[in-house]
Amino acid sequence: MSPCRIERHSFGPHGLKVDANVIDIGANLTHPVFQRDLDAVLDRAKRAGVRGVTVTGTDLASSGAAARLAARHPDFLAATAGVHPHDAKDVEPGWLDRLEALLAQPCVKAVGETGLDFNRNYSPREAQLAAFDAQIELAVRLAQPLFVHDRDSGGAVLERLLAHGPKPRQVVIHCFTGSALELEGYLSAGFLIGITGWICDERRGLELRELVRLIPAQQLMIETDAPFLLPRTIEPKPTTRRNEPANLIWVARCIAEARDQSVTDLIATTTDNARGFFAFREPPINPESPGSSTQKS
Ligand SMILES: [Zn+2]
Repeated sequence: MSPCRIERHSFGPHGLKVDANVIDIGANLTHPVFQRDLDAVLDRAKRAGVRGVTVTGTDLASSGAAARLAARHPDFLAATAGVHPHDAKDVEPGWLDRLEALLAQPCVKAVGETGLDFNRNYSPREAQLAAFDAQIELAVRLAQPLFVHDRDSGGAVLERLLAHGPKPRQVVIHCFTGSALELEGYLSAGFLIGITGWICDERRGLELRELVRLIPAQQLMIETDAPFLLPRTIEPKPTTRRNEPANLIWVARCIAEARDQSVTDLIATTTDNARGFFAFREPPINPESPGSSTQKS
C-alpha cells in the first residue's frame, strides 16, 4: 500500500481536487523558477482549490518582491517580510528599519521567514541569532505574527522565543521536521506548526507521520514551501521537480491519513487557522476567478 492512499473519485483532471478550499501558508513565489509562468502557477492553484497563498520573504529584496506581488492579488495572496537565517550574514545597516517599512504594508501579514538553521550554517550562528532576536523583538513591538524556520537548532529556536519576555502575538514553526521533544515544546508554548510535503516522503517523512498525530487541530497549518519539497505521493508523477501551490492537496492528504482524519475536516480547520493567522480576506461572494465556486465540478 502506498503511504498516502488516493481517493480518486474526489479528484479532478490531473489528480487535483477541485473543491479543496485550502490555504498554502508558505510558498516562495518570488523564486526565479516562477518568473516565467507565475500567472499560470496562480491559475493552477485556484483551479486546484487553493483559496490563499502566503508568499514567503527571505531577505529584504525578496520580501519587497513578495509584498508587491501580494498587493497585485489582495484577495488571493499575502506576504511575509523577514530575513532567513541563510541570509542573516548579509544584512546591512538600517535593515530593520527597511523591514519595518515593509511590514507597514497592508498585504504583509507576518514577520519572517526568520529563525535558525544549524543544519547548513550558511550564516555563522552568531549572525543567525542576532537577526532572529531582532525579528522576534520587531514582531512583538508591531504585534505581528512570526513565521519561523527551525532546522536542527537543537532547541535554540524555542529558547530564544521564550527568552524574550513578551512573545509575538502568534508564532508558526513552518516546515516542522523536528523531534517529539521539540514539538512538545512548541505546542505547549501555544505555537502553530506548519507541515509540508516532507511528510509525503516514504523515507524521511516517517517520524513526522507519527508526530503529526500529536498536534491539536487548532495548532496545525499546511504549506507547500514551493518550489521545494515536491510531494512524492503525487500521481501521476509530475514531469518537473518544481513544487507549486496547486500541489497542496497532496500534502493535506498525507497529513489526514497520518492523523486518521478526513481530508475535509483537516482542510476546514487548517484553513480557519490560516485565515486567522495571516488575516486572509474571505473569498468574494461571487468571484469570477478560476476555481471559484461557480466553476466547481
Ligand atoms: Zn524554511
